[in-house]
Amino acid sequence: MKIAHEPCIDYTLRNFIYLFIKYSHMSARIYLKVSREKSLLRKHPWIFSQAINKIKGNPMLGDTVDVYDHKEKWLARGAYSPESQIRVRVWSFNENEEIDSEFFRNKLLSAQSRREWFIEQGGLTGYRLIAGESDGLPGITIDKYDNLIVCQLLSAGADFQRYTLVEVLKELYPDCSIYERSDVDVRKKEGLEPITGWLTEPLESTACIIKEHGLSINVDIAKGHKTGFYLDQRDSRVTAGRYAKNKSVLNCFSYTGTFALHCAANDAKEVINVDVSQSALDLAKENIALNNLQDKNVSFVKADVFKLLRQYREEKRQFDMIILDPPKFVESKAQLTGACRGYKDINMLAMQLLKPNGILLTFSCSGLMEASLFQKVVADAALDARREVHFVERLQQAGDHPISSNYPEGYYLKGLVCQVS
Ligand code: SAH
Repeated sequence: MKIAHEPCIDYTLRNFIYLFIKYSHMSARIYLKVSREKSLLRKHPWIFSQAINKIKGNPMLGDTVDVYDHKEKWLARGAYSPESQIRVRVWSFNENEEIDSEFFRNKLLSAQSRREWFIEQGGLTGYRLIAGESDGLPGITIDKYDNLIVCQLLSAGADFQRYTLVEVLKELYPDCSIYERSDVDVRKKEGLEPITGWLTEPLESTACIIKEHGLSINVDIAKGHKTGFYLDQRDSRVTAGRYAKNKSVLNCFSYTGTFALHCAANDAKEVINVDVSQSALDLAKENIALNNLQDKNVSFVKADVFKLLRQYREEKRQFDMIILDPPKFVESKAQLTGACRGYKDINMLAMQLLKPNGILLTFSCSGLMEASLFQKVVADAALDARREVHFVERLQQAGDHPISSNYPEGYYLKGLVCQVS
């Protein structure tokens, strides 16, 4: 992997080179085929390669291009990605808006102001500041963990705008250090290499502690999953806490044990965390200690959930509450059938381990698995388990991972609170 940015490189010089490249060629023009402008008129930010009729100019990876319909009417301004099926990701639908520092400053300020309510209400020091397309910045994820900011640049356009973005972040968050975690496979589709490293003066440590809803959580922005942590499950962790009092809880796919934190803090009788990763379980143990919850009967089991649930079934173990938050099972449409089988299997096993009227919190973070299909899979699992499920709550990603009306694909994390009789 390429280590992103040597700290010794002078930023002013790098910015100068970047601006020179940026303005040394006029923006190219993309002309769409007849009636392929419909999704753009609905403000959806993606243009697929098949929709393009011709290109005037010679745009390079990530360049800003202007998009026109077949009658040469201006439609949008976006970033060109020659290797991706999504050939252009739209930055703006306003012809007068340049894609410059002011553009990014406005987007960041409005995203921050939309989040103030959640931040204050949850006492949050860790939150997603920019959720890509849903916040009008396609391909850009920005998470803030205390005074560490993590950028994940997923698309050619996002990559191209790296230094403009960093300069604006430095201006708006002068006390923060900025780190890049662009170590994701989707960059390959854009013709980009994985990149990680500091974008500002390096700090000795990439670890910090964040607060959410009164609990403290260890996060490591270099070693943790995603940009360090699963911020998106924050609200569902609170929900789990609401159900946990006096219950024996089996927290499957626990990662660093944050569902367990909320359950233990809300006086669960017992919490068992299960994960295949020992390092995740070690951090889970640290999180329990960090919150002085060592005396709360919390344990940690390194195991494959699929096997452990079967073993518990044989042992006739029973729980009051089970949490199933598996990793993404579906990366492409071709995997959907297999994924449904996987979801059905673990949900069936969990239901068989629940006492009558037990609570199952079950999740799918696969965007391709629609909410209605997920509910059907859980219903099928109930039939196989010879149990009846009453869906008592629907859960989704937290509000700092919003779903824009222009971009329904932003809805990826679904959860169901099931009462299993
Ligand atoms: N619930 C967590 C996030 C879970 S991420 C939270 O809110 O923070 C998914 C986790 O599942 C990862 O920690 C990964 O190590 C674990 N995992 C993946 N496959 C597994 C399996 N077959 N058995 C047990 N754990 C698994």
